[in-house]
Amino acid sequence: MRVGWLGLGAMGLPMARRVLQAGHELFITAHRNRSPLEELARAGATVCDNVADVVARAEVVCSILPADAEMEAVWGDTKVRQAFAPGAVLVEMTSGSPSVMKRIAAALAQQGVAVLDAPVSGGTAGAAGGTLTVMAGGDPAVLARVRPVLDCVAAQIHHVGGIGSGKAVKAINQMLAGIHMLAAAEALSLAQRCGMDLAVLQRVIAASSGQSWIFDHKAQDILKRAAKPGFRLRLMKKDLQIAVDEGRGLPLPLATLALQWYELAARDAGDLDFSAVGRLVLGD
Ligand code: NDP
Repeated sequence: MRVGWLGLGAMGLPMARRVLQAGHELFITAHRNRSPLEELARAGATVCDNVADVVARAEVVCSILPADAEMEAVWGDTKVRQAFAPGAVLVEMTSGSPSVMKRIAAALAQQGVAVLDAPVSGGTAGAAGGTLTVMAGGDPAVLARVRPVLDCVAAQIHHVGGIGSGKAVKAINQMLAGIHMLAAAEALSLAQRCGMDLAVLQRVIAASSGQSWIFDHKAQDILKRAAKPGFRLRLMKKDLQIAVDEGRGLPLPLATLALQWYELAARDAGDLDFSAVGRLVLGD
Protein backbone atom coordinates (compact mmCIF):
# COMPACT_ATOMS: atom_id res chain seq x y z
CA MET A 1 0.00 0.00 0.00
CA ARG A 2 1.02 3.66 -0.36
CA VAL A 3 1.49 4.79 3.25
CA GLY A 4 2.05 8.38 4.39
CA TRP A 5 3.72 8.74 7.80
CA LEU A 6 3.73 11.76 10.13
CA GLY A 7 5.64 11.64 13.42
CA LEU A 8 9.04 9.99 13.24
CA GLY A 9 9.98 10.14 16.92
CA ALA A 10 10.67 7.47 19.54
CA MET A 11 7.58 5.51 18.42
CA GLY A 12 6.98 6.65 14.85
CA LEU A 13 10.45 5.97 13.46
CA PRO A 14 10.67 2.26 14.40
CA MET A 15 7.06 1.77 13.29
CA ALA A 16 7.63 3.44 9.93
CA ARG A 17 10.81 1.39 9.50
CA ARG A 18 8.77 -1.81 9.88
CA VAL A 19 6.12 -0.64 7.42
CA LEU A 20 8.82 0.06 4.83
CA GLN A 21 10.58 -3.26 5.51
CA ALA A 22 7.26 -5.08 4.96
CA GLY A 23 7.22 -3.78 1.37
CA HIS A 24 4.78 -0.87 1.60
CA GLU A 25 5.62 2.41 -0.17
CA LEU A 26 6.37 5.09 2.43
CA PHE A 27 5.90 8.87 2.05
CA ILE A 28 7.41 11.17 4.68
CA THR A 29 8.31 14.84 5.18
CA ALA A 30 10.56 16.92 7.41
CA HIS A 31 9.36 18.50 10.61
CA ARG A 32 12.39 19.69 12.62
CA ASN A 33 14.71 16.69 13.09
CA ARG A 34 16.03 15.48 9.71
CA SER A 35 17.90 12.38 10.88
CA PRO A 36 14.93 9.92 10.83
CA LEU A 37 14.04 11.29 7.40
CA GLU A 38 17.51 10.63 6.04
CA GLU A 39 17.57 7.11 7.47
CA LEU A 40 14.21 6.19 5.95
CA ALA A 41 15.07 7.84 2.62
CA ARG A 42 18.20 5.67 2.42
CA ALA A 43 15.95 2.64 3.03
CA GLY A 44 13.67 3.62 0.12
CA ALA A 45 11.08 6.06 1.53
CA THR A 46 10.00 9.01 -0.64
CA VAL A 47 10.64 12.42 0.94
CA CYS A 48 7.85 14.89 0.13
CA ASP A 49 7.93 18.70 0.25
CA ASN A 50 5.28 19.11 2.95
CA VAL A 51 2.47 17.39 4.88
CA ALA A 52 -0.15 18.07 2.17
CA ASP A 53 2.11 16.35 -0.37
CA VAL A 54 2.47 13.28 1.92
CA VAL A 55 -1.30 13.13 2.38
CA ALA A 56 -1.99 13.53 -1.35
CA ARG A 57 0.18 10.57 -2.32
CA ALA A 58 -1.06 8.03 0.25
CA GLU A 59 -3.89 5.51 0.44
CA VAL A 60 -3.34 5.28 4.22
CA VAL A 61 -1.89 8.11 6.29
CA CYS A 62 -0.59 7.20 9.76
CA SER A 63 0.18 9.87 12.32
CA ILE A 64 1.76 9.44 15.73
CA LEU A 65 2.41 12.94 17.06
CA PRO A 66 3.21 14.17 20.58
CA ALA A 67 -0.24 15.33 21.75
CA ASP A 68 -3.50 17.19 21.07
CA ALA A 69 -1.81 20.46 20.08
CA GLU A 70 0.13 18.80 17.26
CA MET A 71 -2.89 16.74 16.10
CA GLU A 72 -4.89 19.98 15.89
CA ALA A 73 -2.06 21.86 14.16
CA VAL A 74 -1.72 19.20 11.44
CA TRP A 75 -5.36 18.11 10.93
CA GLY A 76 -6.83 21.57 11.60
CA ASP A 77 -5.14 22.81 8.40
CA THR A 78 -7.77 22.99 5.66
CA LYS A 79 -5.13 22.64 2.92
CA VAL A 80 -3.94 19.36 4.47
CA ARG A 81 -7.49 18.02 4.89
CA GLN A 82 -8.33 18.87 1.28
CA ALA A 83 -5.19 17.09 0.05
CA PHE A 84 -6.43 13.55 0.88
CA ALA A 85 -6.91 11.33 -2.16
CA PRO A 86 -10.47 10.02 -2.68
CA GLY A 87 -11.04 6.94 -0.51
CA ALA A 88 -7.94 7.53 1.64
CA VAL A 89 -7.90 6.73 5.36
CA LEU A 90 -6.26 8.54 8.28
CA VAL A 91 -5.00 6.23 11.04
CA GLU A 92 -4.48 8.58 13.99
CA MET A 93 -2.23 6.86 16.58
CA THR A 94 -1.33 9.73 18.91
CA SER A 95 -2.22 9.34 22.60
CA GLY A 96 -4.53 12.33 22.62
CA SER A 97 -7.99 13.33 23.84
CA PRO A 98 -11.15 11.55 22.68
CA SER A 99 -12.87 14.92 22.23
CA VAL A 100 -10.11 16.28 19.96
CA MET A 101 -10.13 13.04 17.95
CA LYS A 102 -13.90 13.34 17.41
CA ARG A 103 -13.53 16.95 16.21
CA ILE A 104 -10.81 16.01 13.75
CA ALA A 105 -12.74 13.00 12.43
CA ALA A 106 -15.87 15.15 11.95
CA ALA A 107 -13.89 17.75 9.96
CA LEU A 108 -12.31 15.04 7.80
CA ALA A 109 -15.68 13.34 7.24
CA GLN A 110 -16.81 16.55 5.47
CA GLN A 111 -13.95 15.89 3.06
CA GLY A 112 -15.05 12.26 2.64
CA VAL A 113 -11.98 10.97 4.52
CA ALA A 114 -12.45 7.96 6.82
CA VAL A 115 -10.58 8.03 10.14
CA LEU A 116 -9.42 5.24 12.41
CA ASP A 117 -8.63 6.35 15.96
CA ALA A 118 -5.79 3.96 16.80
CA PRO A 119 -3.45 4.72 19.70
CA VAL A 120 -0.95 2.09 20.77
CA SER A 121 0.54 0.51 23.86
CA GLY A 122 3.80 -1.41 24.15
CA GLY A 123 6.47 1.29 24.17
CA THR A 124 9.50 1.73 21.97
CA ALA A 125 10.44 -1.95 22.30
CA GLY A 126 7.00 -2.94 21.00
CA ALA A 127 7.36 -0.43 18.16
CA ALA A 128 10.72 -1.89 17.14
CA GLY A 129 9.58 -5.49 17.51
CA GLY A 130 6.15 -5.13 15.92
CA THR A 131 4.42 -6.25 19.11
CA LEU A 132 2.31 -3.19 19.90
CA THR A 133 -1.30 -3.36 21.01
CA VAL A 134 -3.61 -1.17 18.90
CA MET A 135 -6.83 0.19 20.43
CA ALA A 136 -8.92 0.95 17.37
CA GLY A 137 -12.01 3.16 17.35
CA GLY A 138 -14.06 3.71 14.21
CA ASP A 139 -15.79 1.75 11.48
CA PRO A 140 -14.70 -1.94 11.53
CA ALA A 141 -14.68 -1.88 7.71
CA VAL A 142 -12.09 0.93 7.81
CA LEU A 143 -10.04 -1.10 10.27
CA ALA A 144 -10.16 -4.05 7.87
CA ARG A 145 -8.83 -1.84 5.03
CA VAL A 146 -5.79 -0.65 7.00
CA ARG A 147 -5.00 -3.97 8.69
CA PRO A 148 -2.11 -4.77 6.30
CA VAL A 149 -0.34 -1.67 7.66
CA LEU A 150 -1.26 -2.20 11.32
CA ASP A 151 -0.12 -5.82 11.12
CA CYS A 152 3.44 -4.55 10.50
CA VAL A 153 3.57 -2.93 13.95
CA ALA A 154 1.07 -4.74 16.15
CA ALA A 155 0.71 -8.15 17.72
CA GLN A 156 -2.80 -7.33 18.93
CA ILE A 157 -5.44 -5.14 17.31
CA HIS A 158 -8.60 -4.55 19.34
CA HIS A 159 -11.67 -2.86 17.93
CA VAL A 160 -13.00 -0.93 20.94
CA GLY A 161 -15.91 1.15 19.60
CA GLY A 162 -16.53 4.33 17.61
CA ILE A 163 -14.23 7.30 16.94
CA GLY A 164 -12.78 8.59 20.24
CA SER A 165 -13.00 5.23 21.98
CA GLY A 166 -9.44 4.29 20.97
CA LYS A 167 -8.15 7.45 22.66
CA ALA A 168 -10.47 6.78 25.62
CA VAL A 169 -9.17 3.23 26.17
CA LYS A 170 -5.61 4.53 25.92
CA ALA A 171 -6.31 7.28 28.50
CA ILE A 172 -7.90 4.73 30.85
CA ASN A 173 -4.91 2.41 30.46
CA GLN A 174 -2.53 5.28 31.19
CA MET A 175 -4.58 6.32 34.22
CA LEU A 176 -4.25 2.78 35.60
CA ALA A 177 -0.54 2.51 34.78
CA GLY A 178 0.23 5.89 36.34
CA ILE A 179 -1.67 5.08 39.53
CA HIS A 180 -0.22 1.55 39.70
CA MET A 181 3.32 2.94 39.48
CA LEU A 182 2.73 5.13 42.52
CA ALA A 183 0.99 2.28 44.35
CA ALA A 184 3.95 0.01 43.61
CA ALA A 185 6.40 2.60 44.96
CA GLU A 186 4.41 2.88 48.20
CA ALA A 187 4.21 -0.92 48.50
CA LEU A 188 7.99 -1.13 48.03
CA SER A 189 8.54 1.53 50.67
CA LEU A 190 6.55 -0.56 53.16
CA ALA A 191 8.35 -3.71 51.99
CA GLN A 192 11.70 -2.09 52.78
CA ARG A 193 10.47 -1.03 56.22
CA CYS A 194 9.42 -4.66 56.85
CA GLY A 195 12.77 -5.99 55.57
CA MET A 196 11.18 -8.03 52.80
CA ASP A 197 13.14 -9.88 50.12
CA LEU A 198 11.93 -8.42 46.79
CA ALA A 199 12.09 -11.71 44.89
CA VAL A 200 9.93 -13.43 47.51
CA LEU A 201 7.51 -10.51 47.63
CA GLN A 202 7.11 -10.39 43.83
CA ARG A 203 6.54 -14.14 43.60
CA VAL A 204 3.75 -14.03 46.17
CA ILE A 205 2.12 -10.81 44.95
CA ALA A 206 2.13 -12.19 41.39
CA ALA A 207 -0.13 -14.98 42.64
CA SER A 208 -2.29 -12.73 44.86
CA SER A 209 -4.95 -10.08 44.51
CA GLY A 210 -2.49 -7.15 44.69
CA GLN A 211 -0.86 -8.26 41.42
CA SER A 212 -0.32 -5.72 38.66
CA TRP A 213 1.77 -5.59 35.46
CA ILE A 214 3.62 -2.63 36.95
CA PHE A 215 4.50 -4.46 40.18
CA ASP A 216 5.57 -7.55 38.21
CA HIS A 217 7.72 -5.66 35.69
CA LYS A 218 8.76 -2.32 37.15
CA ALA A 219 9.50 -2.98 40.85
CA GLN A 220 13.23 -3.47 40.19
CA ASP A 221 13.40 -0.20 38.23
CA ILE A 222 11.63 1.67 41.01
CA LEU A 223 13.96 0.30 43.69
CA LYS A 224 17.14 0.82 41.65
CA ARG A 225 15.98 4.34 40.65
CA ALA A 226 16.94 3.04 37.20
CA ALA A 227 14.77 5.43 35.18
CA LYS A 228 16.47 4.12 32.04
CA PRO A 229 14.93 5.35 28.78
CA GLY A 230 11.40 4.09 28.59
CA PHE A 231 8.04 5.80 28.83
CA ARG A 232 8.83 9.39 29.70
CA LEU A 233 7.49 11.09 32.85
CA ARG A 234 6.23 14.02 30.80
CA LEU A 235 4.21 11.68 28.56
CA MET A 236 2.58 10.10 31.61
CA LYS A 237 1.81 13.59 32.95
CA LYS A 238 0.20 14.46 29.59
CA ASP A 239 -1.83 11.22 29.55
CA LEU A 240 -3.08 11.67 33.12
CA GLN A 241 -4.08 15.23 32.23
CA ILE A 242 -6.16 13.81 29.35
CA ALA A 243 -7.85 11.33 31.73
CA VAL A 244 -8.59 14.02 34.33
CA ASP A 245 -9.88 16.48 31.69
CA GLU A 246 -12.12 13.89 30.05
CA GLY A 247 -13.44 12.92 33.49
CA ARG A 248 -14.12 16.48 34.64
CA GLY A 249 -17.02 16.45 37.10
CA LEU A 250 -16.44 12.81 38.09
CA PRO A 251 -14.79 11.94 41.37
CA LEU A 252 -11.32 10.83 40.19
CA PRO A 253 -9.28 11.46 43.36
CA LEU A 254 -6.53 8.95 42.59
CA ALA A 255 -5.97 10.14 39.01
CA THR A 256 -6.03 13.77 40.16
CA LEU A 257 -3.49 13.08 42.90
CA ALA A 258 -1.32 10.98 40.59
CA LEU A 259 -1.30 13.84 38.06
CA GLN A 260 0.10 16.17 40.73
CA TRP A 261 2.86 13.68 41.58
CA TYR A 262 3.85 13.29 37.92
CA GLU A 263 3.82 17.07 37.48
CA LEU A 264 6.22 17.34 40.37
CA ALA A 265 8.46 14.52 39.16
CA ALA A 266 8.50 15.76 35.55
CA ARG A 267 9.40 19.32 36.53
CA ASP A 268 13.17 18.78 36.30
CA ALA A 269 13.36 15.31 34.80
CA GLY A 270 10.57 14.91 32.25
CA ASP A 271 12.63 12.66 29.97
CA LEU A 272 13.22 9.99 32.64
CA ASP A 273 11.15 6.80 32.62
CA PHE A 274 7.91 7.19 34.57
CA SER A 275 9.19 4.77 37.24
CA ALA A 276 11.23 7.81 38.40
CA VAL A 277 8.05 9.08 40.09
CA GLY A 278 8.92 6.45 42.75
CA ARG A 279 11.78 8.69 43.90
CA LEU A 280 9.21 11.02 45.41
CA VAL A 281 8.15 8.10 47.62
CA LEU A 282 11.47 6.32 48.21
CA GLY A 283 13.93 9.21 47.96
CA ASP A 284 16.78 9.58 45.45
P1 NDP B 1 8.38 11.95 20.15
O1 NDP B 1 8.38 13.30 20.80
O2 NDP B 1 9.59 11.11 20.27
O3 NDP B 1 8.07 12.11 18.57
C1 NDP B 1 7.11 12.99 18.07
C2 NDP B 1 7.29 13.11 16.55
O4 NDP B 1 6.30 13.99 16.03
C3 NDP B 1 8.64 13.69 16.13
O5 NDP B 1 9.08 13.02 14.97
C4 NDP B 1 8.30 15.15 15.80
O6 NDP B 1 9.17 15.72 14.85
C5 NDP B 1 6.93 14.96 15.20
N1 NDP B 1 6.13 16.18 15.21
C6 NDP B 1 5.92 17.03 16.24
N2 NDP B 1 5.10 18.02 15.88
C7 NDP B 1 4.81 17.82 14.57
C8 NDP B 1 4.02 18.52 13.62
N3 NDP B 1 3.36 19.64 13.96
N4 NDP B 1 3.96 18.02 12.36
C9 NDP B 1 4.61 16.89 12.02
N5 NDP B 1 5.38 16.18 12.89
C10 NDP B 1 5.47 16.65 14.14
O7 NDP B 1 7.10 11.20 20.73
P2 NDP B 1 6.86 9.61 20.86
O8 NDP B 1 7.16 8.98 19.55
O9 NDP B 1 7.49 9.10 22.10
O10 NDP B 1 5.29 9.59 21.14
C11 NDP B 1 4.34 9.84 20.12
C12 NDP B 1 2.96 9.54 20.68
O11 NDP B 1 2.88 8.15 21.03
C13 NDP B 1 2.61 10.33 21.95
O12 NDP B 1 1.26 10.69 21.94
C14 NDP B 1 2.91 9.32 23.06
O13 NDP B 1 2.17 9.58 24.24
C15 NDP B 1 2.52 8.01 22.40
N6 NDP B 1 3.18 6.83 22.95
C16 NDP B 1 4.52 6.88 23.28
C17 NDP B 1 5.14 5.75 23.80
C18 NDP B 1 6.59 5.78 24.17
O14 NDP B 1 7.06 4.81 24.83
N7 NDP B 1 7.36 6.79 23.80
C19 NDP B 1 4.39 4.50 24.02
C20 NDP B 1 3.02 4.53 23.55
C21 NDP B 1 2.44 5.67 23.05
P3 NDP B 1 10.47 16.57 15.32
O15 NDP B 1 11.27 15.65 16.21
O16 NDP B 1 11.14 16.89 14.05
O17 NDP B 1 9.94 17.75 16.08
